[in-house]
Amino acid sequence: MTVTLVPSLPAISTPARPDPLGVLGVPGQINLDYAASAPCVRAAADAVAELLPWYASVHRGAGALSRRCTLAYERARQTIGDFVGARPDDHVIFTRNTTDAVNLLARALPAGTTVVTFAGEHHANLLPWPRGSVRLPVPESPAGAVRALDAALGELRRVSAGTRVPGLPVLVAVTGASNVTGERWPVAELARVAHRYAARILVDAAQLAPHAPVDLAALDVDYLALSGHKLYAPFGAGVLVGRSDWLDAAPPYLAGGGATAHVGPATHEVRWASGPARHEAGTPNLLGAVALAAVCEAFTEADRETLHAREQELLTRLRDGLAALPHVVELRTFAPEAPRVGIVSFVVAGRDSAEVAAHLAGAHQIGVRDGLFCAHPLARRLLTEAAARSGRRDLPSTALRASIGLGSTVAEVDRLLAALAELG
Ligand code: PLP
Repeated sequence: MTVTLVPSLPAISTPARPDPLGVLGVPGQINLDYAASAPCVRAAADAVAELLPWYASVHRGAGALSRRCTLAYERARQTIGDFVGARPDDHVIFTRNTTDAVNLLARALPAGTTVVTFAGEHHANLLPWPRGSVRLPVPESPAGAVRALDAALGELRRVSAGTRVPGLPVLVAVTGASNVTGERWPVAELARVAHRYAARILVDAAQLAPHAPVDLAALDVDYLALSGHKLYAPFGAGVLVGRSDWLDAAPPYLAGGGATAHVGPATHEVRWASGPARHEAGTPNLLGAVALAAVCEAFTEADRETLHAREQELLTRLRDGLAALPHVVELRTFAPEAPRVGIVSFVVAGRDSAEVAAHLAGAHQIGVRDGLFCAHPLARRLLTEAAARSGRRDLPSTALRASIGLGSTVAEVDRLLAALAELG
């Protein structure tokens, strides 16, 4: 008997789009929700297809298939590390996604670490941190973020001279680009400030890496987290990359096979492995890792400046188009001209955002996101500010988000703008 699981889905094809990586899509469907999960690119699909016949255990078998899989997994680690500018002694640890990577680091913090974040973070970079973490208010500008961090770390140093044990570690955890506004954060400057106070810095690159090169060494950033599914690879693989000392000293993120060097007969008699394996217990996601590495290679070979310029052109068209609609108000933290990636959040006055999103999908085959985008403190604040800035009393309590990337086209952006214009 043949079981057809999803009988009515149209075939996947590579539409004729001006993107060199070959974004996969479904004809007729306009995906303006790249920030949630980007579509896969051909390189990822090819890498998976090529490896599938060799599918065998990783790190656990002596057979030729297994050895090839182990090699592919370790090569993927190297490729991804190179892609993000990992230093020779950094670890590249495979995780499920950014959330998993940040949680891993949160569990690996040395005792007594104070974590400093901003309230504008995605929940993945707000909620994993221990009690006693410092959450700074959302700043009004990138320069304001740098000043606020400087002041906070200075204050922490003064306090620690009195009550805190001197020398306890501090970790600054910031996003590279906001998933709500697309605004870029001044990562290099924040890293400079952090290091001036002997603090370390984690960059949540979930939204930055798909849009711009990220180089840990050049930015002098200590840790970086990203998700494969936002970087044109399939779901299920992400990485935490960064300084090895805390990670080597921490208890394993997951206890189990693969994370051990020795297990003895006595209860709890175990010596944990060192290196990335310490935090990668259980059979790993080989296909996810290999697909993510294939995307990194494809990006490395692509002309990223041209890709960036094209995305910025589309983004400007989208934002200008939204600004021209009197019933639409954009959400933003910084000034309109602040650098940003291809993400825009907005509201349609007098319309419930969930209903607008459903209408766009149902009547126009346009997929956008609605809600508070797993960044409730920021989204709520920006909705309040949008109401004050626009002077409108009929703004909804949640927002819409359109996000673009490699496969996005002028026609798609124009279709969204036309559909929104009809709601005025
Ligand atoms: N950080 C940012 C800035 C994000 O936009 C997201 C997801 O939207 C995450 C972290 C969490 O990513 P994931 O759901 O892949 O763990």
